[in-house]
Amino acid sequence: MTVKTILTEPNPVLRQISKPVKSVGADEKKLMDDMLETMYAANGIGLAAIQIGIPKRIIVMDLSKDENKKEPKFFVNPVIKNKDKSNSTYEEGCLSVPNQFAEIDRPKKCEVEYLDYNGDKKILKADGLLATCIQHEMDHLEGILFIDYLSKLKKSMIIKKLSKVKSTRIVV
Ligand code: ZN
Repeated sequence: MTVKTILTEPNPVLRQISKPVKSVGADEKKLMDDMLETMYAANGIGLAAIQIGIPKRIIVMDLSKDENKKEPKFFVNPVIKNKDKSNSTYEEGCLSVPNQFAEIDRPKKCEVEYLDYNGDKKILKADGLLATCIQHEMDHLEGILFIDYLSKLKKSMIIKKLSKVKSTRIVV
């Protein structure tokens, strides 16, 4: 397993629409292993393949709070089948939008159909944090970041901040 570099906004690769995976083979499993390792190393709870520059519809997540009891989840080609009409609000952050947080409303519950690590078809009924997290990650597959839900002003302020961090000058 290899820890990969996580791309950050405003990298245009993050805006690409990811492509469905034809089948879950050795390459996809290797990718999922690397994604999980990368996510753990960055202390994240979810990561989409595009965040390490791979435009495939693959997501890894682990919402367990116990360091010693990891509960990795893998989603290949996830599709939302049902969404709740009522919303819940969480303060969201993103490994690709470092150190920025904002309250985002999303459907409280959703049903997701996907292939798991072994390529088996599964359906997940998600609620609460799990529902929010899977929807946040699935947005990545469409090139959407949580800051896109904010006002233009707020969003541009965040992008400006992130761009500044990137262009720090060094004199050697
Ligand atoms: Zn994210």
